[in-house]
Parts: sequence; structure tokens; C-alpha cells
Amino acid sequence: MNYYSLNHTSPNVTFKEAVVNGLAPDRGLYFPENITPLPKKFIDNIGEYSNEEIAYAAIQQFVGDEIPKDVLQQIIKETINFEFPVVPIEENIGTLELFHGPTMAFKDVGARFMARCLGYFNRNNNEQVTVLVATSGDTGGAVANGFLGVKGVDVVILYPSGKVSDIQEKQLTTLGQNIKALEVDGVFDDCQDMVKTAFLDAEINRTLTSANSINIARWLPQMFYFFFAYKQVYKQHKEVVFSVPSGNFGNICAGIMAQKLGLPIKHFIAATNVNDTVPNFLQSGNYNPKPSKATISNAMDVGNPSNFIRIQELFNNNLEALKGAFSSFSFSDDETRETMKNIYQTSTYIADPHGAVGYLGLKKYGLQNEFGIFLETAHPVKFLDVVEDVLNVTIDIPPQIVSVIDKQKEATKINSYEDLKSFLNA
Ligand SMILES: *Cc1c(COP(=O)(O)O)cnc(C)c1O
Repeated sequence: MNYYSLNHTSPNVTFKEAVVNGLAPDRGLYFPENITPLPKKFIDNIGEYSNEEIAYAAIQQFVGDEIPKDVLQQIIKETINFEFPVVPIEENIGTLELFHGPTMAFKDVGARFMARCLGYFNRNNNEQVTVLVATSGDTGGAVANGFLGVKGVDVVILYPSGKVSDIQEKQLTTLGQNIKALEVDGVFDDCQDMVKTAFLDAEINRTLTSANSINIARWLPQMFYFFFAYKQVYKQHKEVVFSVPSGNFGNICAGIMAQKLGLPIKHFIAATNVNDTVPNFLQSGNYNPKPSKATISNAMDVGNPSNFIRIQELFNNNLEALKGAFSSFSFSDDETRETMKNIYQTSTYIADPHGAVGYLGLKKYGLQNEFGIFLETAHPVKFLDVVEDVLNVTIDIPPQIVSVIDKQKEATKINSYEDLKSFLNA
């Protein structure tokens, strides 16, 4: 499969080149040249396939023959070796729990898939690659965990100082080995801008790639979730609506890719916190990115969502067509806290702030006879202070988290792009 740049001034590239480059030289995101729907028979009988078979069917055309079948199957097997349950919340609402992986947020799947693809592509190279990644919270931990010890790969993670939770910070600053953390005096968008600038800077003397959802190997495997969820609910014979807590809009964009592959999804809701660039765009038609604001759902504190451009491409840049299949609503921290309480009181389910925003999206959309699924993108323990404070509960710390909580943080503070550049060239 070949990929083109959404800025349309760089040459088309193979899957491997797109993964290794991260971003195209013209700063555009890569996008697949073709999307071929899966056979209807496969979708109609999805319950008869294992998650591994489904994931292989979904991703194979995007990889093409650049990774041999048995290797790709093995990569998938290692990537998704945990559960993706849809847990009932109310009569017509369930939550798809995406936090059963090693760092307890949905980003584990993309990070593990990408690390293994890069490991495969690098298998005979002695050239070191540096994965440069900006995190609003969970990407850092997932990438650190996914790439830890991968031969030929150094990882440099930029995170906004004071704007990620304590556990998130531990997950990305304590692993050592080939993982380095840079603590940026700024917000997430500053981190993301520095990363984008570094990619285009000819004076950086390392081979850089990105492990943000701009990288197709991080972004595309997220399609799997929507298939796995559908497989669990399709026998109810109701139309399915997904509400996705959204920040950089990579996850929901992967959902729309799944729909393009033939998955019968009636509607998508991108639920955001007060970082409302996309909800505003749908209302006004004007796309006005703003600096991100800090919220209790910090992994979605994104003022200029990278992947929205891919969503527009999927709808041929037709705003009316987009609005027919996709809504986006913004919610405040107060509404989020209130909703966490309501969900807990009515169903005893402990939602993290991101999941609560997703739930609010379904409520605002107003389900009729559909089955609504909101994505629970992280385990509540990752936002321990907020969740314990709002719900007045004590959360047991799972073993994945216990293992990092007492480790010593190691991070280098930086204030500017020049600092990043000197760090990379040192
Ligand atoms: C990254 C993240 C999001 C946002 O996902 P995008 O793909 O960037 O829209 C939502 N919730 C949690 C917990 C996350 O870590």
C-alpha cells in the first residue's frame, strides 16, 4: 500500500517509509491511497472470528506485502494479548474498556504495534532511529513501555510540566534504558510543535520518527477497537453509535476508517473537554485552533488536533457530509465531575474523566433505539486524585501501576526548541 501526504507536495511512499518518516517532508500527514471494504460476509459473521483474525483482516491491506504474513500475525498477536470488553452501563449504553493493556490506556495497542513494525524494519540495520514523541499524558507511558529495549531505537518523550497526572509522569520517566523524558515548560501543543519542527530541521543529526498518532502505525491499529466492540454487540440487532473521548482525534479517525472498511456504524460522536476547536468548527465552519487549556481529562488537552485533517479527507472535505455522520460536543470539568458521580450512583461504574466525557457525548446526542458505546480510554487509577476526590472512593492500585509508583523520576527540563535541538545533537 502506498501513502500520500495530505499537503500533496511530497512524493508518495510505501508503508515502511511512512512508518519510518512519521510525517511527510512537506509536513503533511500520510494517508492511504486506497481503502477497500472487507467482504460483507466477513462483517455479517464477525462473531465467528477471533480478535487476531479480525485485526489481521482489518490491517492487512494497509501493510501490503511489506511485512510477511506470519510476521504480521505474530505482531498482532503480541499487540492485542489482552481483553477489550464492552461493559453494560445502562439499558442501551455500554462502555468499551480499552485499559487492560500494560500502561492502562488505549494507546498501548498503537504503541506496541508500531514498536514491533519498526523493530521488524530495522532488523538488519545498524543505524539507530530516534522516536520523538509529544505526550498529553498517556502516549508517553505507552510508547515508553512499547519501545523499551527495542534494538536500534532510542525514544525521546516530551511532556508538559505539571500537566500530566503523577502516575502518567512515573510511567514515562522511570523506565531508563533507551527511554529519555524531557519535561517542557509549556502546554501539550508546545511539545507537539517542537516535535514537528524537529522533523523538518536539517541540522538535527539523528534519524527521527514520530510515535504520535500522526504515525500511521500508531493510528491505524486503533481501528481494531471498533471491530472488537461491534463483535460483542451486533447480535442485539441495534444500530451502533460510538462516542469517543477525543484530543488529537486519532482514535475516532481510526473508527471512521473501520466504518470505511464496512463496519456498520450509524454515527460517531467526538466528545471533547473545553478544548473545543472541532465542536466550534462544526458549528461555525471556521477552523480556529487555540492554545490548549488544562482540564481534568488532560489526555485530551489539545487545541489543534493533528488528525482532524484525516477525518476531513475521509469525507472528501465536505462539511455537510461530515456533519451527517459525525457530531462533536464539548463539556466542562464541572459537567465531567457531575457525570462521574451520576454514573457511579446509577450503575456503580467508576468512569475516569475521559470516559465520563464520552458518556456525556452519548447523552447529548440523544440515543433513540440505537445502542451507544462510549470508549473508556484509560483506567480510573491513572487519574487517581480526581477520581478518588470526586467519587469518595478508594481505588485499588493494579500491579502494572504499583511497579512504577515508587521509582525515581528522571527527566531533563527544557524551555525552548533550541534546548530540544541541543539535547538531540549532544
Ligand atoms: C490520548 C487519549 C485520548 C485522546 O485520544 P485521541 O486519539 O488523541 O483523540 C483520550 N483519552 C485518553 C485516556 C487518552 O490517553
